[in-house]
Amino acid sequence: MDTKIIDGIAHSREVRAQWRERAQALTARGCRPGLAVVIVGDDPASETYVRNKIRACAELELLSEHIELPATTSESELLAQVRALNADPRIHGILVQLPLPKHISSARVVETIAPEKDVDGFHPMNVGLLAAGHPRFAPCTPSGVMMMLEREGIDPWAKHAVIVGASNIVGKPMALLLLAKGATVTLCNSKTRDLGAHTRSADIVVAAAGRPNLIGAGMVKPGSAVIDVGINRLASGKLAGDVDTAAMVGVASHVTPVPGGVGPMTVTMLLANTVLAAEMACARQGLAQRSTDMGSEA
Ligand code: NAD
Repeated sequence: MDTKIIDGIAHSREVRAQWRERAQALTARGCRPGLAVVIVGDDPASETYVRNKIRACAELELLSEHIELPATTSESELLAQVRALNADPRIHGILVQLPLPKHISSARVVETIAPEKDVDGFHPMNVGLLAAGHPRFAPCTPSGVMMMLEREGIDPWAKHAVIVGASNIVGKPMALLLLAKGATVTLCNSKTRDLGAHTRSADIVVAAAGRPNLIGAGMVKPGSAVIDVGINRLASGKLAGDVDTAAMVGVASHVTPVPGGVGPMTVTMLLANTVLAAEMACARQGLAQRSTDMGSEA
């Protein structure tokens, strides 16, 4: 079996070029898409993620505002910052980098972001829309996986998809997106008995547990597509996914590498959600303008 190593960087480049055109069209209409990224404290991993996001915004010529707050920021100060961004017409997407310091409730912060600016897709209203089958902003990592599957010609319809990891930001929304595309979905977690029995019956495996080499030799069926969401920092300092990629070669039809697989697609979908949010805001403004014009004609 030939195994294709999916190039997430190449996919990302092509998808970003499409969204760049949509962003430019909006800018030409006076609606330049804007993303605000808020980071609290100085977690080095978060700083790297935020830097990547800001750089990606520049690539698409989006307006980006980077707000760095000290770790001592109180919850009410952060909520005030979020409310100010909710009211700022230049900003269409708001992302508060998680995790937050322990004294701040992430749930309260996420619930304070205006749902129409929640480009991470974590607000309960957006979670509900996704669960109801009418997604507005789906979380970026699972959306990136769906985009990758589509571009690789891997159709989830009537396939068995097994997701390893059931978090709110990856596993659960991944299950909903695959379900919406006609897959039969199994969602595993740390209590799942005999994980291999599940993954060996899958046509598509999505590994998102945060456990290096969890999916190793003998864990997948020949011809399956294996998507590795995990990002683990090893003691050596190297990055590794949840999948033993070398063990997949010759067995899986497709596998994603770490780094260079799902990671770049996540950032790409954040940009896509920001442009979408700006398109919706711009359309609402146009409608409001039209009804004002009609009012003044009457
Ligand atoms: P999390 O810790 O919130 O959730 C992990 C999930 O995996 C839980 O549901 C847990 O029950 C399950 N799990 C743990 N061990 C397991 C096991 N042995 N068998 C089955 N299930 C198991 O993590 P998360 O935020 O969902 O992130 C998961 C991984 O994905 C991490 O490595 C994270 O760094 C990575 N991640 C990558 C991207 C990206 O852009 N590529 C984005 C987000 C998260």
